[in-house]
Amino acid sequence: MSEVRTATESVPQIHHYINGTTLQQDGGRSLAVHDPAKGAVSAHLALADTAMTRRAIQAASEALPTWSAMTPLNRARVMFRYKALIEAHFEEIAQLITREHGKVIEDARGELTRGLEIVEFACGAPHLLKGEHSLNVGNGVDSYSMMQPVGVCAGITPFNFPAMVPMWMFPVALVCGNTFVLKPSEKDPSVPMYLAELMTEAGAPNGVLNVVNGDKEAVDTLLTDPDVSAISFVGSTPIAEHVYSTGSAHGKRVQALGGAKNHMVIMPDADLEGAVEALLGAAYGSAGERCMAISVAVVVGDAIGDRLVDHLKPRVQTLKIGDGLAEKGLEMGPLVTREHRDNVHRYVDLGEQEGATMVVDGRQREFRGEDGYFLGGTLFDHVKTDMRIYTDEIFGPVLCVVRVPDYESAVALVNENEFGNGTAIFTRDGDAARQFTSDVQAGMVGVNVPIPVPMAFHSFGGWKRSLFGPLHMHGPDGIRFYTQMKTVTARWPKGVRAGSAFNMPTME
Ligand code: NAD
Repeated sequence: MSEVRTATESVPQIHHYINGTTLQQDGGRSLAVHDPAKGAVSAHLALADTAMTRRAIQAASEALPTWSAMTPLNRARVMFRYKALIEAHFEEIAQLITREHGKVIEDARGELTRGLEIVEFACGAPHLLKGEHSLNVGNGVDSYSMMQPVGVCAGITPFNFPAMVPMWMFPVALVCGNTFVLKPSEKDPSVPMYLAELMTEAGAPNGVLNVVNGDKEAVDTLLTDPDVSAISFVGSTPIAEHVYSTGSAHGKRVQALGGAKNHMVIMPDADLEGAVEALLGAAYGSAGERCMAISVAVVVGDAIGDRLVDHLKPRVQTLKIGDGLAEKGLEMGPLVTREHRDNVHRYVDLGEQEGATMVVDGRQREFRGEDGYFLGGTLFDHVKTDMRIYTDEIFGPVLCVVRVPDYESAVALVNENEFGNGTAIFTRDGDAARQFTSDVQAGMVGVNVPIPVPMAFHSFGGWKRSLFGPLHMHGPDGIRFYTQMKTVTARWPKGVRAGSAFNMPTME
């Protein structure tokens, strides 16, 4: 983490977006935001204190009655305008993602497209909020459900998808009639700020979508404030657990998505070239800083293991790495911060000490004249499950190859891992694939698809210590999370049609 300092220097300051305007905080703590490809400070970020966070919650509370009373159709119309605005500013937002996160520009465009798809899903609010209806559950008695807003919702998001992960949350929350306070990652806050400004431009009333920039102080205020009804969190597992337990203890509904260690099982009959291409993108794309990155390749049998490693080696050695805004066709950018790059570097040291076979050493890759937080891709073979490079989420461009003798051992290995976000199997055998999708304990499964991120109209979420709480993000689960169901059972007594009744009414 960058140093905490008092914001006095002349780099741009990033503040908070509350009640439809930028609110400055005088004095207080701030953090440096970096351009990871240049290794330079690009802005200072004001960190909200409790009072500033409460102002955002208050703005969201005040906006709630009017916004929740709007028809779903009119809320969806705001979302249609929002979609058009994002499309109009698409390239600008994608460049902002790359500048603060470091991922290459093509990858930033992909992230924004996936976020935009959630906005498109949210445009269907009138259909999504229809509820259920049963005619004649008793004689003359009908039953129906109403999906009503939860209230003020808060979202706390990680650095690795500064556009997409906030967009998993607020478009769905908003069209369901809730108002929202977003606390984005302090490492790349500019995109979430911009997304909130565009929501005002799209016609959302002031206070409907607010952004507080901050750290633990802001998060803990959101988790404990009685005016916040629901918390959506995405980030590392220890913080997800803290968010889930604290938010739940304060009576809120919470969905908290945590970390991951995603395995890709490569069966002996797999299309080897397809598996190699898939692994390269899934392990090293976005410098491995994806919650759905493949960090473990589980090869079934030594024959395919040897061939896979032989094919991967030259490609990992020559990954095209650089400043994602300066060059086209790059495969990987820098790590998000110097601290994170150094941490990944230490994991590569550790893997060597633990006795894994170093096939490609990313530390050796030279980046002459570059001050950015670059690191080459690393490939370890013969990794054992008690090594920390296997057990820990490294969140960098490091792929571990683990060898197993058969399908059963492969599934057991995946299932014994504490995380269960995503996984994949590469095979030509339909029976093995079908069995795998049934046996494996993970929330998202790919069959010959390395990063099985569900589309907007399905839901995204893991199992085990990758998710705390029952409901996944967006899709049907997102609608359930951001609404509370009320079921009405209604009987209308026979009225003028039957004339007056003078005897005691009874059930028919
Ligand atoms: P992080 O847990 O450090 O931070 C996430 C959010 O929590 C940030 O907004 C941060 O300000 C806040 N936070 C950090 N420390 C806190 C504390 N002590 N108390 C309260 N709030 C705190 O995660 P990150 O480094 O930004 O993102 C990477 C992690 O996110 C990885 O573990 C990755 O797997 C995970 N992730 C998971 C998913 C998923 O869908 N499961 C998606 C994206 C990222």
